[in-house]
Amino acid sequence: MDTSFNATTADRIGQMKYSAVNFTHIKQTSIKAQREIAQLTFAERKLILKRIRTYIIENRDQLIAKVQRETLKSRTDALIGEIFAVCDHLVFLEKNLEKFLQDKKIPTPISLLGKKSRVYCDPLGTILIISPWNYPLYQAIVPITSALMTRNAVIYKPSEFTPLKGVVEEILEYAFEDQRKSEEWVQIVYGDGEIGIGLIDLKPNKIFFTGSVSTGKKIMSQAAEYLIPVELELGGKDAMVVMNDANIERASSAALWGALTNTGQSCTSTEKVYIHESVYDEFKSLILKKAASIDQGVDRDGNCEIGLITTKAQEKVILTHYEDALAKGAKELMPVDIDINNHMISPIILENVTKDMLTYHEESFGPFVILIPFQNEENLLEEINSSKYGLSGCVWSKNIERAIQFAHRWETGGVSINNVMLTEGNHSLPFGGVKESGIGRYKGEFGLYSFCNMKAILIDGNHNNIDPNWYPYTPEKYRLMDQMTEGLYSSGIFNFIKFAFNGLKVEGLSNKLGRFKKR
Ligand code: NAD
Repeated sequence: MDTSFNATTADRIGQMKYSAVNFTHIKQTSIKAQREIAQLTFAERKLILKRIRTYIIENRDQLIAKVQRETLKSRTDALIGEIFAVCDHLVFLEKNLEKFLQDKKIPTPISLLGKKSRVYCDPLGTILIISPWNYPLYQAIVPITSALMTRNAVIYKPSEFTPLKGVVEEILEYAFEDQRKSEEWVQIVYGDGEIGIGLIDLKPNKIFFTGSVSTGKKIMSQAAEYLIPVELELGGKDAMVVMNDANIERASSAALWGALTNTGQSCTSTEKVYIHESVYDEFKSLILKKAASIDQGVDRDGNCEIGLITTKAQEKVILTHYEDALAKGAKELMPVDIDINNHMISPIILENVTKDMLTYHEESFGPFVILIPFQNEENLLEEINSSKYGLSGCVWSKNIERAIQFAHRWETGGVSINNVMLTEGNHSLPFGGVKESGIGRYKGEFGLYSFCNMKAILIDGNHNNIDPNWYPYTPEKYRLMDQMTEGLYSSGIFNFIKFAFNGLKVEGLSNKLGRFKKR
């Protein structure tokens, strides 16, 4: 195990004092910046994305080292979660931006003959992005580029625990080739929750928040005062379901990775593994065998599977859940190594976890592998749907149709079938939760729209006619419109003719009555 990185940098507060933040200036700058950003063509936006990607790829070693210093994650976790995943998102945007965001032609019903309908993906204005500490580069670049590419100004507040001070600035300055633009288009404000509250008071046009349920509730309540729309990407208690016909060898490897990647500090970590009782023992022995060879530390060469725990507060949550589970009868399947001075908690593999334990219901956000046998699929579905969370999950079965049916009935935001944590691995898919796991979707086509004012446009090419539904109303007009309505919404060709005939008549009458008031 390599713990040679001194963990003193974790928990450091990279924040500004509330009194030192010039909120008025931030507000004014974002309004001015948004007017400039609104002018960006698709080609200019794609170039920005390409340059961000180039910077990240060319400087990945240095970026990984900075991420590791603040998060204490393993090098491979940093490469996969912060470099690969971010570049994948950037490529997705580059390829699809124009297709998804160009003005859209929308069908117009026959009752509006002669008119055309469009949807414009216009910007909302300024997006306030507030991020957590667990994936500081990803949680910066993915929402910032989503907001920018939809032509919004951005105010970004990273977590006070992993601010990556100066990193995003450097990336954006390279991408924009202009220091002023990078400072004004994406204003980065370092600070804690108090600063976050101050930024919400600036009444941005939308808040994109990623973090805990408790902070999400506070943000939503503050935003409600100003009626600011919020997107909340919150916590989870994701389950893995292993059916009796699953590939146990593969599923056990997946469970270990899903539970332990980023040392379990992922919103979509596999927090509980439900295994059919007929394959439980086989699954357990495989997972224990595989867990025994896990190396832990903040490595420099890619040798460690998992890193350390990023914050003191999270260590406390993990240890509380662990001690609570043991006190209430959970069985530890492998000795747990705890070295708090070095931010180290080794994998906690438990069975006999029961409903009265904290780790059964609450997000543990740590290196827990919790094995629970089940007998009946229907009862299991009821059980997992009783969770207050619903972020994502995975189901394992060789019978894909069976797994699909299970996924449909699971109250959650995403389900991987025969894989783990992989819905978020495809940037074309929407991401987000249901219930207390959040509100809204980002990423993919649907996610991009959540940063847009999806503006409805109707173009009437007819400059002379008076529409039938305009004044004046008369009994004759009412009769014709009534017949027209019946014809339009009843079935059969005869009714369609009735609609067309009465439609023409009512149009003629409307034009005759014109703008004059009836007497
Ligand atoms: P947190 O809620 O403590 O903090 C998140 C951010 O909110 C930080 O930047 C913090 O300074 C800020 N903040 C705190 N109080 C605030 C307030 N009153 N107003 C405005 N801003 C405020 O979360 P965390 O501990 O940084 O992150 C861990 C949590 O994030 C976990 O629950 C995890 O599941 C969740 N998470 C969710 C996703 C997702 O996409 N669903 C992704 C990553 C992490």
